[in-house]
Amino acid sequence: MWTGRKKFGPPEDVEEQCNAHCYIADDYGDNVATIRCELPPHHKGMHREISREGKLIIEWEEDEREYDSAV
Ligand SMILES: [Zn+2]
Repeated sequence: MWTGRKKFGPPEDVEEQCNAHCYIADDYGDNVATIRCELPPHHKGMHREISREGKLIIEWEEDEREYDSAV
């Protein structure tokens, strides 16, 4: 999902924010970093991927595969 950043490259630091960075690999070279939920099927709540030995936790709400068939 692209949320309006207008240029490529690293984001500019914002004053009075932490500005720590996290780089997610462009895993298929298609300009998309795929995040995959690792929770059991039909789980409740947010989808979650935990990587980097528990140091990176990503949670999100909607399964974007659901949009593939609708296009
Ligand atoms: Zn899930």
